[in-house]
Amino acid sequence: MTTPATPARVEGTLDPLVLLIAVHDYMEAAMIGPHPDAPGHSHNVPGKWDADGTTCEWCTTWNRVRKCVEQNDTAHRQDRSASGGPVR
Ligand SMILES: [Zn+2]
Repeated sequence: MTTPATPARVEGTLDPLVLLIAVHDYMEAAMIGPHPDAPGHSHNVPGKWDADGTTCEWCTTWNRVRKCVEQNDTAHRQDRSASGGPVR
């Protein structure tokens, strides 16, 4: 029987935005093709529960994450463009 490895501690602070982007990129890469709903969800009407049409809070939250990451990427693209640096 082996003991599970203890995760390494990270010294210092971790920028929450960096963590959010990492989770976003990982989850989006795991999904196949463009998907209007959150990971693990596939509603008939995007973001609405099939049974009663109420708003799905997970999809709402995930779409906020998408927007945050997109706005950050756009802002950084503009910064790099203005400084003459590479634009991805
Ligand atoms: Zn949903």
